[in-house]
Amino acid sequence: LFHGEIDFLKGVVAMNGLPPADRMEICFAGRSNVGKSSLINALTGRRALARTSNTPGRTQEINFFTVSDGLYLVDLPGYGFAKAPLPVVEKWQRLLRAYLTGRQSLRRAFVLVDSRHGVKDPDEEIMKELDRAAVTFQVVMTKTDKVKAGELDKVLDQVRQRLAKHPAAFPGIVTTSSQKGEGIDTLRAVIAGLD
Ligand code: GDP
Repeated sequence: LFHGEIDFLKGVVAMNGLPPADRMEICFAGRSNVGKSSLINALTGRRALARTSNTPGRTQEINFFTVSDGLYLVDLPGYGFAKAPLPVVEKWQRLLRAYLTGRQSLRRAFVLVDSRHGVKDPDEEIMKELDRAAVTFQVVMTKTDKVKAGELDKVLDQVRQRLAKHPAAFPGIVTTSSQKGEGIDTLRAVIAGLD
């Protein structure tokens, strides 16, 4: 799946900008700095790909990438970091909600969680939106190289407890380190197994 062409298609700022829902779609969400760009780059083997999403002006867009013509990979804006003005935040929540609720082709959302921090309030918010929209979501732990095995186990317990409260949560958690390349093949296999 990730061996073919991967291209940035477009950044979307309003519902009427969405590309036609004509193929399977997955999306990635996470707090700013969680390692989302690094993970997408590791996943796709394209170093500069998701940097597109992190360039000023693109950070607030829903960024669409085409993968081998058969899949849309969607990079949602990072949340919970910069204190944006309330009207901007509200506009974003509306667009996000509209996107999540209306997107037939969206098979799964991947919610990235930092292995050092576990699930934080902004993650809870996005999980609630996903419950509401009935979009199955799976947690991907990032930066596992930054914690010891015992610490990771504790954080995973916390994550599992949180997930138990979310009807849209998929039970399996994928642990990854973009830096060490850990878990990347597993995540690729999860994505390839979606239908
Ligand atoms: P984004 O804001 O979620 O797109 O996060 P980035 O991918 O830009 O990563 C944020 C910071 O975390 C950068 O300094 C990355 O180098 C670092 N980072 C990302 N992934 C990893 C990882 O797996 N291990 C380590 N140690 N650092 C990482």
